[in-house]
Formats: sequence, structure tokens, C-alpha cells
Amino acid sequence: MRQYDLVVIGTGPAGQKCAIQAAKLGKRVCVVERCEVVGGAAINTGTIPSKALREAILAATGRSPFMPRFGDFVAARGRVSLRDLFNACQTIIKNEIDLIRGHFASNRIDVCTGRASFRDPHLIDIEGEHAREAVGADRVCIAVGTQPARPKSIEFDEIDIITSDELLRLREPPASILVVGGGVIGTEYASMLAALGVKVTLVEGRNRLLDFIDAEVAEALQYHLRQAGVTLRLGEKVVSIKKVEAPSGSRSTNNVMAEATLESGKTLRADCLLYAIGRQGATEGLNLEAAGLAADDRGRIRVNEQYQTAVPHIYAAGDVIGFPALASTSMEQGRMSACNMFGQACDSYGKFLPYGIYSIPEISMVGWTEEQLTNEGVPYEAGVAQYKEIARGQLLGDEIGMLKLLIHQESRTLLGVHAIGTGATELIHIGQAAMAFNATVDYFVNAVFNWPTLAECYKVAALNGLNKLRNI
Ligand SMILES: Cc1cc2nc3c(=O)[nH]c(=O)nc-3n(C[C@H](O)[C@H](O)[C@H](O)COP(=O)(O)OP(=O)(O)OC[C@H]3O[C@@H](n4cnc5c(N)ncnc54)[C@H](O)[C@@H]3O)c2cc1C
Repeated sequence: MRQYDLVVIGTGPAGQKCAIQAAKLGKRVCVVERCEVVGGAAINTGTIPSKALREAILAATGRSPFMPRFGDFVAARGRVSLRDLFNACQTIIKNEIDLIRGHFASNRIDVCTGRASFRDPHLIDIEGEHAREAVGADRVCIAVGTQPARPKSIEFDEIDIITSDELLRLREPPASILVVGGGVIGTEYASMLAALGVKVTLVEGRNRLLDFIDAEVAEALQYHLRQAGVTLRLGEKVVSIKKVEAPSGSRSTNNVMAEATLESGKTLRADCLLYAIGRQGATEGLNLEAAGLAADDRGRIRVNEQYQTAVPHIYAAGDVIGFPALASTSMEQGRMSACNMFGQACDSYGKFLPYGIYSIPEISMVGWTEEQLTNEGVPYEAGVAQYKEIARGQLLGDEIGMLKLLIHQESRTLLGVHAIGTGATELIHIGQAAMAFNATVDYFVNAVFNWPTLAECYKVAALNGLNKLRNI
């Protein structure tokens, strides 16, 4: 039986970074992956496919100013099908998988394909399609991620009632879709499908989309989604979902439609329903009891600040430990867990987590929101720059973009940055760095930025904020 210093279960962002960090510390490492391909949800069903699809849609609908990868494809095809778009994305996904395999190989990390489960706290069974084996582990990192929640009461299939996993396998965009859930996944796909001309209705139980982001940015997003033809049903709860026969004359390809009944008594119908409420930790089948562990009712594993579970030599990282459940944070948690388990000191700026939402338009934030600062009684002022007052914004033709800085009224330090518009998810990192180094907004006033760039928004927003502060 092979014996390892560390066995990592799962090859998503958390598992990869944990394994690579441990290997860099000179440890003997094995990763176990139940799928034929490495990379986890991030590469195969989540982040990269959805972002590749977004880029393909932007290119196909002429919204992307610079899109070499999809340019030829779009020019050659004219009208595109969803299957064509996904096919165009496959090269990106394949390249990412090759990169990850390359990193495992260059760090001498063994990759075992099969489903892992605990036989005891130090022994992992790996059940492959054709073979079984067991490996011994001094330490274990559980990085099994999550899968879409599929309530038993809903009759999911591959076409009419789907989750984000099946959306990637649709051949054609449906004529109409009901998106249930206005979180990140629901909002991103709603905006992408609307850009493709699909009639989208989005139902969200709360009174606004994306309740963790700045309210002004959420309002702006809602406005732009409505402009793009999305019907938003906010503050509405779905009580039942079922399939019904499509009325004659409908554009349904299989004579079936999805129907959602709302608590308010409304009935909504569409060719397809995307269920995007919550994800479930993939801990079922791990036989956690044999390791002395248990998951909560959403399949998540509790850890302490070191990413250590209740069993000291077993760590967990990534989506399986819960919020914020992003590829970016999962990578960092994986890296930190490896450092912690092998006693390696390491710094992390995890306090300043950026959030990127790749809706159309895209959104990003770091730090506090206005609502949080108000609730906490922190005195602040907001400085705003509209893309339309920035030369680069004009060049891009982005009339809707906006960057907002939240500035402490007394210390003038940066408390939060919120952006919507082209490049928002890139732009946010300037503010993130300033916050990590406790900079005041005077930095942005005095710094020289390349021109014309969107980064100039920082200078304009800082001046706007300081002007307002002058009057206090
Ligand atoms: C549609 C969608 C869009 C997203 N967009 C973004 C985005 O834009 N930005 C962002 O930061 N995040 C995004 N995310 C979230 C991101 O994908 C996850 O946060 C990230 O993949 C979590 O990484 P992980 O390593 O924890 O788990 P995963 O990536 O889920 O990997 C877990 C791996 O463990 C394997 N596994 C599970 N059980 C076993 C077992 N018993 N034995 C062996 N292997 C096992 C799985 O097969 C999988 O490969 C998105 C997610 C979705 C669904």
C-alpha cells in the first residue's frame, strides 16, 4: 500500500493549491479525483465554462471589442447555436485541464482516478471504474466541492427542468427560460441568455438580486437586466415546480414546458426552468463517520481558522466549507491549509476578498458596502466616477459603467470599492491593493495613471469623494 504525507480528495482549485503547496514543502502527495478529468467544477461545470460561454456570447452578439479566440468562429457561422458556442469553449477548457495536469506532474504529485472514501481516519479507499486500491495518509485534505442542490420534489431532467450543470449540455437556447434564484449563478446565466435573445424571467425570494453587493450597484444591474428584456420577479417565492404539456402553437421542441407556481398565486411558464438555488457539499459517499467526522444538512464540513476539522490531521478547504464558495477563495484556502498542516508560516490578505460577478454588465467589489458601514456606524463618504466621464469609457462605448470608492470621513482610508461595467473584475484589484496597504484616497489623487485607461476612474472618484468631504 502506498503511504503519503498528504492525500487530497478533489482536484478543484482548493485541492490543486493544497497539493502543490505541500509538494513545494517537500511532502509526498497524492490527489484523488472521481472524474476522468481534473479541475473540478471550476474547470468542467462552473467558472471556466460559464466565463468562456460569456465571452463567446459577447463575441457572437458583437459586444466584445477584442475577441480573437471566437472571432473567426463567429464570422464563419453567422447565427450560432448553444452547442456551437460550447464547442468553441472546449479549447479553453482542454487547455486549462492540460495546465493542471502539467502542474501535478512537475510537482511530482500522484493523481489517482476514482471515488475516495474513508476506511479509517488514516486510510483512504479509492474505487476506480476498473480497479480498487487503498492509500495511507498522515494528513488528509477534503476538497470535494459542491454540486447543484436538487430538491427531491422537483422532476429534474436534461432539457426542461435543469441545474447549471445541464445548462452546459443544452443543444439550443430555449425560446424562454425561468431562472429560479437571483444569486450569482442565476444572475450570470439570466444576463447571458437574455443577450442571446432568450426570453428570461428571473424569480428571487428577496427584494433584490445579489443581496451581498452594494445596493446602488444591484439597482443598476437590475435596471440593465430589465433593459435587456429580463422580467424580474423580486420578493416572490416559488412553491412548486412541475412539467406541463405545451399548448399548441408553442415553440417548445418536445411539447413540454416548465411551470412554476409562486406563493403569491402567480403561475409562470417557459420552455425551460433553471433551478439555481443553493449547492450541496459533495460529502455523500466519503464515509465521513469512519474518519470521526460529520457534515451538516447541506453537506458542508466545519473547520477552524486553520482549515482544520474536528479530527486534527484532517483539513478541509474550498466550497465544501461554505461561504464564499468561489474558485479564487478556494485556491487560497487550499494553499493555507497545506501551510498550516505542515507548520509553514504564511501570510494571507484573505481579509480583503474581491467578489467578481460575471453578469452582463459585470460587477465587482472589495471591502465594506454602504449598508454595512451605516449599520456599523462608520462615518464615510462615497466618491463616484462614471465611465462616460472617462476617456477609456468613451473609447469602449461603455455608457453604464461606474466605480465607487467608500472613504473614511476622518482617516480618508479606503473602506470599500464597488464597480459595474467593462473590466470591473480587473479594476477592483487596484482598490484591493490600496486597502491591503491601508492607503488613503490621496494616493489616487496624486498618482499618475496611464491614459486613457479605466484605472483613471480611481482618480476621478477620489477627487469626487474628497470634494464632498471638503464641505463637511
Ligand atoms: C456556474 C458556476 C459559475 C461559477 N463562476 C465562478 C466565478 O466566476 N468565479 C469564481 O471564483 N468562482 C465561480 N464559481 C465557483 C467555483 O467553481 C467554485 O468555488 C470552485 O470550483 C470550488 O473549488 P473546490 O476545489 O472547492 O471544488 P470543486 O471545483 O467543486 O472540485 C471538487 C472536486 O472534487 C471531486 N470529488 C468530489 N467527491 C469526490 C470523491 N469522493 N472522491 C474523489 N473526488 C471527489 C469532484 O469530482 C471535483 O472534481 C462558479 C460555480 C458555478 C457552478
